[in-house]
Amino acid sequence: MIIKTAIKNFEKSLGFKNEIIWFNVMFMSAYHIFGLYWCWHYAFPVKILTVLYAFSLYILNGAGITCGVHRLFTHRSYKAVPALKIFLVMCFCGAGQNTIYQWVRDHRLHHKFSDTDADPHNANRGFFFSHIGWLMMKKNEEVKKQGKKIDMSDIEADEIVMFQEKYSKSLRLFFCYILPISLNMLLFNEEWKCAVAWQAFIRYLCVLHAEMTVNSLAHIYGYQPYNKNIIPKENKFVSAVTFGEGWHNYHHSFPFDFKASEFFDRFDWSTYLIRWWARQGWAYNLKEATPEMVSAMIKRAGEYHIVN
Ligand SMILES: [Zn+2]
Ligand SMILES: [Zn+2]
Repeated sequence: MIIKTAIKNFEKSLGFKNEIIWFNVMFMSAYHIFGLYWCWHYAFPVKILTVLYAFSLYILNGAGITCGVHRLFTHRSYKAVPALKIFLVMCFCGAGQNTIYQWVRDHRLHHKFSDTDADPHNANRGFFFSHIGWLMMKKNEEVKKQGKKIDMSDIEADEIVMFQEKYSKSLRLFFCYILPISLNMLLFNEEWKCAVAWQAFIRYLCVLHAEMTVNSLAHIYGYQPYNKNIIPKENKFVSAVTFGEGWHNYHHSFPFDFKASEFFDRFDWSTYLIRWWARQGWAYNLKEATPEMVSAMIKRAGEYHIVN
């Protein structure tokens, strides 16, 4: 009881509105610290094929997040045939994150109430909270209240997504750890400790932090050519590490656009992939904002538009 009160007072003194989940704090800190220790000892020497393999999985996991849970399942910015959906779900499971259902609900909430108390990773609460801190705390009352109102009927009707919801723990264990590590050892004859270092720590943590920069860096640093009245920014670094998700001022202005940016840039591999899938007939009904819609937005609210 005394410890609980002391923790509560400590949280209050830090100014947190959310209750801290100490298990998550310990687990996530331990994962990073132990990962550093493990990599320091076992990540090198490494076979070049192991590094290329880890990078390939980084791309696949990234595609599962950007092309899959984000642009397809959350925003419905295009449609996909079942085989492509299953592929994207497998790629997403390899990233070792929460379920698709949770991801979609939180992200829809983020768009609806960006950077307010109802936003699960409100960037007004600082870099650490919007980057990873929010995963170490209970959701506040406003997030819980508004989260219940988010329409999830399309997700609940999707058998593939609900299968992932039901078996998420086993799927995560298999696609994020067992399969990548075993294949690394079997295909490239890598030593198991080195395979664990590159797959369970380096690849996993790089995917996690790259994705989190969208919620933190792309809401803090950058420019706002489309809408200066919202916090999300255009950020090239974020776009580079997330394959096209850093053009965040545009994305929050036109969330239904499958490109998540106005222009195609060399980092936007996600758009390139979706376009290629469309040419194969695996993706269809690609939605885009028209040039007229974009210029109207720039005129109305863009940072650089000069009224004559
Ligand atoms: Zn955002
Ligand atoms: Zn979005």
